[in-house]
Amino acid sequence: MSEAALALPTTLAAPAVVAGAAPLIRMEGVTKTYDAGELAVQALRGIDLAIEKGQMVAIIGPSGSGKSTLMHILGCLDAPSSGSYRLGGRDVSELSGFQLAAIRNQKVGFVFQTFNLLPKASLLRNVELPLLYAGIGGAERKEIAREALKKVGLVERAKHRPSELSGGQRQRAAIARAIVNGPSLILADEPTGNLDTRTGLEILELFDEMHARGETIVIVTHDPRIAERCGRVVQIVDGLIEDDRLLSGDAAPRPPSHPPARLAGVSPESEAARS
Ligand code: ADP
Repeated sequence: MSEAALALPTTLAAPAVVAGAAPLIRMEGVTKTYDAGELAVQALRGIDLAIEKGQMVAIIGPSGSGKSTLMHILGCLDAPSSGSYRLGGRDVSELSGFQLAAIRNQKVGFVFQTFNLLPKASLLRNVELPLLYAGIGGAERKEIAREALKKVGLVERAKHRPSELSGGQRQRAAIARAIVNGPSLILADEPTGNLDTRTGLEILELFDEMHARGETIVIVTHDPRIAERCGRVVQIVDGLIEDDRLLSGDAAPRPPSHPPARLAGVSPESEAARS
């Protein structure tokens, strides 16, 4: 954990549970033990966490502190060893792998450091995939996928393969795939980790736009630039939440620092110019 990340301008300690409507995410006493016999590792040791709809939250902490484990449980990729996890009011802590997969497809959009796009498929096909798994038919699927590509300024590249795009464009395509089925929660794991500074900033602008549209976004990151832009920063140390702060004083989505509805510096024209 860098000094810069720890020296964020803090204003308020975030309450464990914010008053009002039921939070989108509510974890109570969540533990996770990776069982390797005598070498069992307790990666999470009792996490209490509530996240409201519309919040943009950074999860920070040193390597090995449990961030990925927490993200896997938040994203229904894995189940806790004990404790409860409610997502959108539904207890998902004891669901089978099959049931978790269904919840994941409906409710969670993932953005990974390495983009995880299918290399041989076009961008449109990549973005369509969650809709295909959700059983949405061809024509409608294509239309919704094109809309998602439009939101990230890439619709002109719909037919291109990932290898024909820059890193930033690939990450934008991955974000289109994450939002295409209207998830309740967007989970991002080091989304700027493979990008240069300028491109990383473009991706952060895109997250700001999604936040301004009311999306709930949780980002696991070592990057202080990301943490600074989130309304809330949760710090994990050794499997426990050590600090949980609201930086902007409330959970409301904040407006982007540039005209909305268009990613700064990215327009169909500038995309065409880059081609
Ligand atoms: P972070 O993302 O903060 O680096 P992780 O959640 O990956 O932390 O890991 C937390 C702890 O759990 C570490 O000690 C790590 O070695 C251990 N761990 C993670 N995944 C596994 C696994 N599949 N099997 C055994 N131990 C694991």
